[in-house]
Amino acid sequence: MTAAEHPTTPTVDSFDLDHTKVVAPYVRLAGRYVGDSGDVVTKYDLRMVQPNRAEVPTAALHTIEHLLAGYLRRSLTAATVVDASPMGCRTGFYLTLLGEPPAEAVRAGFEAALRLVAEHEGEVPGCSELRCGNWRDHSLPGAKAWAAAVLERPIIVQETVTIG
Ligand code: ZN
Repeated sequence: MTAAEHPTTPTVDSFDLDHTKVVAPYVRLAGRYVGDSGDVVTKYDLRMVQPNRAEVPTAALHTIEHLLAGYLRRSLTAATVVDASPMGCRTGFYLTLLGEPPAEAVRAGFEAALRLVAEHEGEVPGCSELRCGNWRDHSLPGAKAWAAAVLERPIIVQETVTIG
């Protein structure tokens, strides 16, 4: 069992990624964990914009998070979506999956979900004081514009490039 497969080994994959060598937008397998019963959990880096060159504004990213919650589950049927959460650097999302789908299925699912974000009309799901921790900090126009901007370039499957 390698460190990446061991659920209790405290390695932080993202600190070993050389952020200057990746080409966004992309999907990248960032972690793989095997439980005692053999269940596999995979973690993907869904990068929308080039690290240290751009960042998605907070309100737009927050709305994309709310929309991806439903749209990724609709678009990515090859695995069970556990969670999709924005990165603190605001350049993308981490996606946690129960299952081990082909990277191409994740890439296509992310692309389809972003297209649905870009085309979304009407209410933002969960955007209320009752259902969100910062419900005023949303921008649907921003979310749609950033999703559309990401889709102007092909989303690739990025291999992990480690530092050193
Ligand atoms: Zn929220």
